[in-house]
Amino acid sequence: GMAAFGLAFQSALFQSVAVLVIACPCAMGLATPTAVSVGIGRAARNGILIKGGLTLEQLATVDTVIFDKTGTLTTGVMEVTDITTDEDPKKFLQLVATVENSSGHPIGRAIALAADERGIALSHPESVTSHSGAGVSGRVDGVTVYAGKRTLLEENNLAVSDSDVAKLAELESSSRTAVLAGWDGRARGVIGIADTVRAGSLVAVEHLGRTGIETYMITGDNQATAAAVARQVGISNVIAGIRPEDKANKVAALQSSGKRVAFVGDGINDAPALVQADLGMAVGSGTEVAIESGDVVLLNGDPTLVPTAIDLAGATFRTIKQNLFWAFAYNTAAIPLAALGFLNPMIAAGAMAFSSVSVVLNALRLRGFQPQN
Ligand code: ADP
Ligand code: MG
Repeated sequence: GMAAFGLAFQSALFQSVAVLVIACPCAMGLATPTAVSVGIGRAARNGILIKGGLTLEQLATVDTVIFDKTGTLTTGVMEVTDITTDEDPKKFLQLVATVENSSGHPIGRAIALAADERGIALSHPESVTSHSGAGVSGRVDGVTVYAGKRTLLEENNLAVSDSDVAKLAELESSSRTAVLAGWDGRARGVIGIADTVRAGSLVAVEHLGRTGIETYMITGDNQATAAAVARQVGISNVIAGIRPEDKANKVAALQSSGKRVAFVGDGINDAPALVQADLGMAVGSGTEVAIESGDVVLLNGDPTLVPTAIDLAGATFRTIKQNLFWAFAYNTAAIPLAALGFLNPMIAAGAMAFSSVSVVLNALRLRGFQPQN
């Protein structure tokens, strides 16, 4: 009678409490956020700032990486190595440096510095125009000086001689950027600028290659200079002579052929491409605009942080999958046991806590992630 009912009621109550406790998807809820936060923290300790968990997912699925050349694969710290001119060298450098000084471009800074080092005082330019991705022009001491790519001079009706062309080719084949400069109807000299390839560029490209990721170099610089740098860093896909606004278009073209593209860049002119890419990675030593446009910031600009970030995202996703698997397996195995009365609510509670703890511990293993380079 009563006693039997009481007992049945008590065990039914215990069974249902055990089911409720065990069915609580605590571990399931912890599986992803624990791994993501440990992954993001581990990345930060390596100098990789990841803006949010969604970015990790993009990182883990990237199959193509496009690197900007200047300031990304190279240090972007430029230096004048050659000056060839049929003018008085001091006068030539003074006029060119005067317009370049206000161009705001790394090339301009290098040329202004070269003048400074030779004790040449700059004039006051009347007006200076920056031609994005092509060069600079400005009026100095009664002449209009043009400095930049061959096309900039030709478009402004300055004649370019065969010996100028030969000098350009010679500089470009040795990975120098050649700045052609002139005024009053013709080019009057060539300035060779050297940029240093970053120590980690080759290692990064090789590492990405081993991971099965395709690499590209993109630059506004000319084909010959770009090819010479590409050889040094082991990249075979080179997109050169690009106008700044076309960088984003090249990213979009690769995306529409089915690629999942990361873009790594440092400059103002890289911002649209950083936004267009599935994943924008900004070099921390670069411009503020680039840093704001990126989903990931590589603090010290070391290119090996690119494969490290991708590997770490992969490791984070493997951890999430393990966590979800165990949390799910635990629930599916334990719920029937609890429903059939094999689990005391106390043990169920202990088991539930254990499964949550094991998910957290598994996520914490990510802290031991070691970059390959
Ligand atoms: P990148 O894409 O490599 O960062 P930019 O788009 O800024 O380069 O410039 C592309 C090219 O335009 C340079 O390699 C250089 O030949 C030319 N150029 C741009 N600005 C200047 C300048 N101030 N003086 C001379 N040449 C310039
Ligand atoms: Mg750049």
